[in-house]
Amino acid sequence: MAIIITMVIHDQHVHSYYSFDSEQPIEEYLSLAIEAGVSYFVLTDHYDANYLDKGEDLSFDVERQHRELESLQKKYPSIKMLKGIEVGYKPNRIKEIVNKIHKYDFDLINLSLHESDGIDYFLVDTFIELGIDTVLNIYFQRILEMVNDFDDFDVLCHLDYGFKTAYRIDPSISISKYEDIISKIMTTLIKKDKTFELNTKVQEYLPLSHTKYILNLYKRLGGTNITISSDAHKKDRYRSSFDKYLPLIKEAGFDHLVYFVKRKRHKLKI
Ligand SMILES: [Zn+2]
Ligand SMILES: [Zn+2]
Repeated sequence: MAIIITMVIHDQHVHSYYSFDSEQPIEEYLSLAIEAGVSYFVLTDHYDANYLDKGEDLSFDVERQHRELESLQKKYPSIKMLKGIEVGYKPNRIKEIVNKIHKYDFDLINLSLHESDGIDYFLVDTFIELGIDTVLNIYFQRILEMVNDFDDFDVLCHLDYGFKTAYRIDPSISISKYEDIISKIMTTLIKKDKTFELNTKVQEYLPLSHTKYILNLYKRLGGTNITISSDAHKKDRYRSSFDKYLPLIKEAGFDHLVYFVKRKRHKLKI
């Protein structure tokens, strides 16, 4: 971690047609990545174990994807293909998740909470039905349990994913109401030497004051490891809004971003 290098940051949260919710061919991303001048390209397609407790995984054919990445690597030697995954956490499937992570040679493990307790945090209906505050208390509590109980990940993705859904219903709510529990989540990340993601897709739903608030809180608690990622499901969103949010990261006092190769963290000066 001693060397800090300067280069164009690549997007470290990207979905392709291997994910259930994307139809985007991989190759179309590559011309954009090369044009942007990045050195690496990483896909992080979805693997949500036992989604909504219905007994099935929302997953993808990892071996087929890796074969495609290897053949694209030959066609595009100027950019280094990395292998990533976005793990949707499930407390009663930890063993299976860990087995899957270690079966393949991943460069990056993104960790997310998309659902728990029968609640899909993307859907506004459940927030309305159960009440925003009730759902958000469960949401942040489950994230805290996740980062406490699970170690085998590199980056915590979109901490404010569920909050964004609540905000769509009631724009008067502020994330500062949940500062206590968010501080505990961030402190656990820092203690475990994990990385915090600023997800630009989620930020686009929220005011700049929200983004500044979470960046400042993470900084104040002693956070240093941070990524900026688009969560692109379509090529047009690749590295989306990096120009808008990178200055906010700098303003909050961060002087570098991090990226992962073979699950080792590297620093990138900003
Ligand atoms: Zn996600
Ligand atoms: Zn994602």
